[in-house]
This record gives sequence, structure tokens and C-alpha cells, in this order.
Amino acid sequence: MKIADLKLTTFRYRSRTVRDYEGHPHPGAEHWAANRLLTVVTDEGAEGYFVSGGCTPELVDGLLKPALVGEDPFFREMLHQRMQRIAKLTNLGEMAIGQVDNALWDLAGRTLNIPVYKMLGAARTKVLAYASTMPGDDMPGGLSTIEEYAAFAEQLVAQGYRAIKLHTWMPPIVPEPDVKREAALCAAVREAVGPDVDLMLDAHHHYDRHEALYLARECQRLGYVWIEEPMNESRLASYVWLRSKLDDLAVCGPEHAENGALTRVQWAERGGCDMLRAAAGSGGVTQIMKTIHLAEAYGMRMEVHSGGPDNLHVLCAMGINGKYYERGLVHPMRTFEVPFPWQKTHYDPLDAGGYVRVPERPGLGDDIDFDFIKANEVRSEHEVRS
Ligand code: MG
Repeated sequence: MKIADLKLTTFRYRSRTVRDYEGHPHPGAEHWAANRLLTVVTDEGAEGYFVSGGCTPELVDGLLKPALVGEDPFFREMLHQRMQRIAKLTNLGEMAIGQVDNALWDLAGRTLNIPVYKMLGAARTKVLAYASTMPGDDMPGGLSTIEEYAAFAEQLVAQGYRAIKLHTWMPPIVPEPDVKREAALCAAVREAVGPDVDLMLDAHHHYDRHEALYLARECQRLGYVWIEEPMNESRLASYVWLRSKLDDLAVCGPEHAENGALTRVQWAERGGCDMLRAAAGSGGVTQIMKTIHLAEAYGMRMEVHSGGPDNLHVLCAMGINGKYYERGLVHPMRTFEVPFPWQKTHYDPLDAGGYVRVPERPGLGDDIDFDFIKANEVRSEHEVRS
């Protein structure tokens, strides 16, 4: 079997999520937004799919087709290494590599009629979910006050969640992040849900050492499980320092460092974190599995960043050192309990026990609505809003 073509389909859909100028998502007025379906086409008719914003038409035509067409799609490791080499001297990024790699895994699973988590070596069929909140906002009835966060946390527990991660207020929603207000919010949520719900904090990412330590000590006092990215993750030395001051609060990271295991091994070696973190969307399933095995070798937990079918499959192929599936981002004014417009069914419904089950369909099991995508295909970004 050979790769015959890579097809990138840009399509539009109605969205109620808007981003502020620092990139944080919030609920907003309904509008047109765009997403992209990558299809790996083979000479034997088999296809693999992955929906994400990773690839652009320029990357597919200029770099990826020349590198992949004519190759055996089952040679994922070879193709991944080739894409990493291409990335060194071009603008091919990890999100694009991840979209291609995940589509190759999907293709292999569909061809062999087996879900990806079983191809990887299955360890379980469901993972405990945590509700990951949207960042704070200034909308009454949303996440604009400490009281609203606390009330929402109670709702999430009533819905079945046994763990919640808070994203709090960050610029430009607030002029300056306020470490004392964040700590008060963490305390109010603990008070609202009681001692038995696992809580985590993903703080504003640009505190200095002493602000980060203040917040981490408050989280430690409140029995939080981990603190995530309270400082710029380029400062590994600051994370080593922070971790040396804490007892039983875990530091989770680095979320955004590139090159998967190659950079995370330095965090593990130098003690910058207690739990490693990476997403299958960056670099693909091939890349994240190496980080998962790195964490295992260091006896560390590896908390997978973000939801999605790719992350759910890798979680079900790893042992219990990946305890949670990140479900969200949730918000009082936005339901998360319906599929995206390009999906026929929801891939990660929450069960009554707070777990999410991995799809058993072949490949990644994303129930893509190809008719919707075809009917909403656009040829340019301009067409998205016209
Ligand atoms: Mg994070």
C-alpha cells in the first residue's frame, strides 16, 4: 500500500466560542469558524482522517505531499522522523505533524479493523475525566466571580465529575493577574465541593517565582492535586526552584515545550516537575507515546494535555500513570454535552461514575460527518465569513 494523496478540506461551522487577544477561549455570540479535515488517501482505497487546525494548504502542497506521497503509510516512525527533519528548516510545526501522524494511525486502524488503543497495546477502556474550565471572564452568570466558580464546581460534581481543573482570570480579562484573588477562588471551590473531589489549578502563566510559590502553597494547603504552568515554561530553573519548596503538591508540566520526550527528559532529569505533560495533537500519537514511556522510566505520572480522540486512545494504551482525561473546556453558559457540528456522535460522553470510554470503532473512532464537511467546504478564509 502506498500513500497516493493528502487532501486538506477546509470547512466552516457555527461556533459560540470566541478568543480574546491573548488566545483564551470564552463563550460568545454565534459566528462562522473554520476547521480542517486531513485525509490520507492510498492507492488501495484505504483512507485515514484527522480533524484539526494543524495543516494549511501551503504546508500540505509545499512540504507534506512531496515527503509522503509514494511511501507506505504503515511506516509511521520513518515518516515521523522525516517530518521532524523537515521541520528543522521550514515552518512545518508540531500541530501539522500531529495531524498527519494521527491520520496515519487512523488509517492503519481502519485498514486493520482495530481501534488505535488496541494497536498501541491496550491497558484499559475508560479513564476518569476531569472537568477543565474555560478561563475566567467578565460575563455575569459565567465565570466572572469567585461565587460563580464555586457554584459551577458544585454543578459539575452533580453532573458526575470527580475531578475539576480551574483556569482562572488572565489578561486581558483582568488588567493584572491577582495571585490573592486566585488563591481565594481556589479556597472557595474547595469549600464548595468538599474534600473528596480532586482539584487542580492551571494558573496564569506569567507569575514570578514568589507569586507562583504563594499560589502553590495555598493549593498545597487546600489539598489540590497539582499546579500547572504558573510561570513561563521556558524557565526550567524557576520550576526546579518552585518544586524544591513544595511538599505534597505536584507540579505538572511542561505543556508547551516542543520535541516531546527530547525536552521533557530534561525536566525529569533536573526535577522541574512531578508529572510530565504533552498532547497527542502536537507531534501525533507516535511522539506522545515516547513521552509516556519516558515518564514510566522515571516513575512519574504523565498527564495528557487536552481532550480529543487521539488523547483518549493514548490514555487507554498507558497504565495508571495517566490518571485523568481532560474534558472541556466547560463553562456555565456553554454545553459540552453535544458533538461538534462535524461529528455525528460525541466521542467522549461522561458516564455516571465520572469516566469517559474510548471509542471501539476502528482507527481513532472519531464519528466524522463527511456529508456536513462536504456541504460546508470553503476554498478560502474569506469564504468562511461570507
Ligand atoms: Mg494547561
